[in-house]
Amino acid sequence: MTVNLLTIKDIRSYLDKELKDLYDHNETAFLSKIITKTIFAGAGLHEIYNPGNSLSAVQKSGIINYVDELKKGKPYQYVLGETEFYNCIIKVSPAVLIPRPETEELVDIIIKENRNFKGDIIDFGSGSGCIAIALKRHIPGADLTSFDISDDALRVAELNASINNVNVRFEKNDILNFQNQSKSKAGIIVSNPPYVRNSEKSGMKKNVLDFEPGAALFVDDNDPLIFYRAILEISENILQPGGKVYFEINEALGTEMKDLLKQYDYSCITIIKDLNDRDRFAKAIRNE
Ligand code: GLN
Repeated sequence: MTVNLLTIKDIRSYLDKELKDLYDHNETAFLSKIITKTIFAGAGLHEIYNPGNSLSAVQKSGIINYVDELKKGKPYQYVLGETEFYNCIIKVSPAVLIPRPETEELVDIIIKENRNFKGDIIDFGSGSGCIAIALKRHIPGADLTSFDISDDALRVAELNASINNVNVRFEKNDILNFQNQSKSKAGIIVSNPPYVRNSEKSGMKKNVLDFEPGAALFVDDNDPLIFYRAILEISENILQPGGKVYFEINEALGTEMKDLLKQYDYSCITIIKDLNDRDRFAKAIRNE
């Protein structure tokens, strides 16, 4: 097949043609823009926005490789190896979930409510490190520790902390079998743990199911709040009285989440909706 890829202008039509079964015209427009930015990394915008600029052989084969990966249904964030989260560049590999817009909302809520916070924040389930890194960047008085069970995820998270120039302690630990080594107590606990029930898989997109790490997403239908319960148990020892918890939750389990928090020693239990009007976050304050 001949590939007509001579100038920047051709990228869009090449993607339109090659990806027509997977992406509509608006999506290919978006993809051509980020692919162009990636292959011209370091160049000024005047070069990127000059449609007549010619493509080198290396750039051309780069584009063809990206498109081959996209054709397999791989999410573009994995294809390009990075995405943006709350103004931070976050590298992603298939060992970590692609940061979600809902999680940006969670981070936004925490930052707005705790801008001047001083003390320890603990994040359970680092993944790419996006939550801990964005919090550290915007709450300068906070000391961030973030735990994950996956060595591969911890490596990605550490790389992201260094790229974003922040200091976050990433440590290996298992939420369900937690080893507490810390003496100080946190003022804030945050987590976006696995919360999608196995039975919900049938309604999910193939590119999520085929490419994202199942261990970061799925829980048993018989005990979908297992991670939250474990975190609340751990919090008895590591969260200060008066400290806050913030969770991202399954939209179908807001009531169950509220009931769970009531079983522990918390007040001001609030379920917050996301931009799509779904119950998506829970927050509460530990009693003094
Ligand atoms: N919101 C994510 C999704 O729908 C799930 C994140 C999680 O399980 N913590 O894919």
